[in-house]
Amino acid sequence: MFFDRVKIYCKAGNGGNGSVSFRREKYVSHGGPDGGDGGNGGNIIFRVDEGSDTLLFYKYKRKFRAEDGGDGKGSKWHGANGRDLILPVPRGTVIMDADSGLVIHDMSDGEDFTVCKGGRGGWGNRHFATPTRQIPRFAKSGMDGQERELLLEMKIIADVGLIGLPNVGKSSILSMISASRPKIGNYNFTTLSPNLGVVAVGDEGRGFVAADIPGLIEGASEGAGLGHEFLRHVERCRLLIHVVDASAQDGSSPVDNIKLINNELREYSEKLAERPQIIAANKCDCLVDEAPLDEIKKYAAENGVKVVCISAATGLNLKELINETALELSALPPCERYEAEYVEPETPAPGSMEKTFTIRRENDVYIVESEWLYRVMGSVNFEDRESLNYFQKVLRTGGVIDALREKGIRDGDTVSIYDFEFEFVN
Ligand code: GDP
Ligand code: MG
Repeated sequence: MFFDRVKIYCKAGNGGNGSVSFRREKYVSHGGPDGGDGGNGGNIIFRVDEGSDTLLFYKYKRKFRAEDGGDGKGSKWHGANGRDLILPVPRGTVIMDADSGLVIHDMSDGEDFTVCKGGRGGWGNRHFATPTRQIPRFAKSGMDGQERELLLEMKIIADVGLIGLPNVGKSSILSMISASRPKIGNYNFTTLSPNLGVVAVGDEGRGFVAADIPGLIEGASEGAGLGHEFLRHVERCRLLIHVVDASAQDGSSPVDNIKLINNELREYSEKLAERPQIIAANKCDCLVDEAPLDEIKKYAAENGVKVVCISAATGLNLKELINETALELSALPPCERYEAEYVEPETPAPGSMEKTFTIRRENDVYIVESEWLYRVMGSVNFEDRESLNYFQKVLRTGGVIDALREKGIRDGDTVSIYDFEFEFVN
């Protein structure tokens, strides 16, 4: 079966731990702290693979983990960064949060997308030396890599979708109007996959992409759970060519057949049912009489839809079908891209967090605790002057300095915020 939807589990690498180590020197019991930082964990990155048009890569392997960062060591030895894990997907794959089904990212441009960020490596103890603490016996542990369950859905990108009952001639039409060579005939013995074809319009090199979607009913009627599944692939199409067998050789009413398909569309999505259509009345080479064709034309007129009477067998009016399609397309917006809907819940940006903190006093040390500050500190490099200035500003604007004054802090008292200590100066 065509493999175009899969749930997978991804976990980025954890950051390596910072190391606690001291320089060894002759006759010196403790040299300076020289514990290196842990390496960053590897990211998990999706990359478009132009050569693939299914998610078969994920058929047997569903769990992916990027490499962890290495731990830091003495002599300022930085742990190795974990390698990124690159996961290939066909263009047009939509990445969703598995629980909520909300869109995280649409892989329709060719850009890489980092879906799980590796954890930052922890700082080695050499970062934590201060004038009042020359022998820092701690280092930071690495942060965990991001992990998440994802739902991948391939939604091909085509301007036009050919829809209709099985055997009405969808694949035949695509093969006649493009260089695509889809299997024609009985589906049940062929791969059930959509086919794409590029259709040239006139001599100007303009064109559009058309997709031939497996018929809706054959799979569904066999209880194979197909049918609606394939409509995912026309979701992005700007226009639908609704193919119907106008020859009515099987005795069914073409208009009833059109309505049947439109009902299927509506059941799948109201939005898809509203998509503009052109009716391609096919197999006009086999018309016994004009009655079915008139019926179709009447229905089309009532519904404001264009009809083109064609034959994929003889090529009748295919040029007209192409031109009508191109004309309609020129007035339609570009292919839909799915906007990200999913909002990261667990890791709010420090800026968006509530700036709450507590201060408690132990002798002359004022200990500040705050989830918000802890996060801010994750991105502060205390060795760097500018970064340090930034942190001081955060303390001031966040009201921490004022609160310390209210608690009666005096010059020379120590302020301790997690791994960071400084002397208070008014
Ligand atoms: P699909 O299931 O809609 O993709 O239909 P196919 O393209 O596979 O065609 C089904 C059958 O109808 C095949 O045997 C085709 O040769 C035949 N067919 C398709 N278009 C025409 C046409 O315009 N005239 C005639 N006489 N037969 C056609
Ligand atoms: Mg077909």
